[in-house]
Amino acid sequence: MHPAGAPLFQHPAEAVCGREVHAKAVTCVNFLTTTMEWCTLLVMPATPRSTKSRPPNPGSQSALRHLNQQRIIECLLNGPSTQAELSRQTGLSTATISNIVRIMQGAGLVSTEPTTSSGRRALNVRLNSNGALAVGIDFGRRHLRVVLASLSYHIIAEESVELPLGHHAEDGIAAAVDLLDKLLLESGVDRSAVVGAGAGIPGPIDRRSSTVAQGAILPEWVGIHILERLEKALDMPVFVDNDANLGALSEVTWGPHGGVSNLMFLKIGSGIGAGLILNGAPYYGTVGITGEIGHATIHEHGLVCRCGNRGCLETIASTTTMIELLSRGRGEPFGPDKIVSDALARDSATLRVVDDAGLAVGRALGNVANLINPEVIVVGGPLAGLGNLLLDPIHRGLVRHAVPVVGETTHLAMSSLGARAEALGAAALVFQHAGIARA
Ligand SMILES: [Zn+2]
Repeated sequence: MHPAGAPLFQHPAEAVCGREVHAKAVTCVNFLTTTMEWCTLLVMPATPRSTKSRPPNPGSQSALRHLNQQRIIECLLNGPSTQAELSRQTGLSTATISNIVRIMQGAGLVSTEPTTSSGRRALNVRLNSNGALAVGIDFGRRHLRVVLASLSYHIIAEESVELPLGHHAEDGIAAAVDLLDKLLLESGVDRSAVVGAGAGIPGPIDRRSSTVAQGAILPEWVGIHILERLEKALDMPVFVDNDANLGALSEVTWGPHGGVSNLMFLKIGSGIGAGLILNGAPYYGTVGITGEIGHATIHEHGLVCRCGNRGCLETIASTTTMIELLSRGRGEPFGPDKIVSDALARDSATLRVVDDAGLAVGRALGNVANLINPEVIVVGGPLAGLGNLLLDPIHRGLVRHAVPVVGETTHLAMSSLGARAEALGAAALVFQHAGIARA
């Protein structure tokens, strides 16, 4: 068993706060068991993250203190530090660090404890899991969800609003800023208590440039430097990731799968994508674009997909395809909620479409399961309410197309986090960087 937050692995370094920072392993607890099963989650060194400091508003003392506090928080988001280390990392004098740390401590943002460093007495500073808050933002094609959570994994406030189809990135980001301000106001939380924000978008993010890559469900967002835009709008450290990756992260942090080292989260929505936790760490591949299972070929002569190929999984099992199939001759188009309600009401056409989709998903999962042998595959997205109506055909497809022992031992489950999974995972990005595991 490892003490919480103990560094277990050394990882390729990334430069933050003007120094080399090594990834730290975070220990998380399977909180549903009493046997305290432990797994390790690597803090994600590759999560797109801006290191650009914002200039202070000249002439304003409070703006300067805000900027200095942000610089200290950015360093503490990489784990606890002594005041001397903070001084080295930020370039601020030890007196300034000591002064700001005292103010932050008074506001409940950080806690301190005596320690020794190079044989000298020192004061270790860490973000306070009760006083400091993180924001999780989930941008969807038609929705925006913002959660405000404490670093001790309590949700302080959350709200979801609809966004117009085809909205531009700037409009989505402005809506997120407004919604966060509203939540802060309603919950009586001072903005200075928020140490950072995580954000998820339904599309691949090229980690080399932190831009939204081709293939996004939000085509209007492609090419946007999402990280820079969000940091500027929110005025706080920001971490971004793909929505399916955040779903996977939320299942092993907020959800019931904390003890699972190899987990796949499959999001079935307007698009289909997967997030992977492999050997206890989120898997990002080479440029950060992984889990594009929605474009696995299922029928070579099938329908043309938005990616340009034919017969991709999305042309059979995305909610967009299912709605198209089911709205023929029914007049007004409808949303995924109606797929769930009609299937639960045993509408035969809906049941058939759901069954076909599940079988196709299971087939694609069989190939992935053969490759990575996951312990759990969690299905999330707006169809989670279908329960076994969707899980059963997925299981049939998985068992048919995976090698027997893999098919039989892969546990399939619906996400218990529902529509909140991605926003909670986004908040967890901040916790992970701060080295805070669920207790
Ligand atoms: Zn495709």
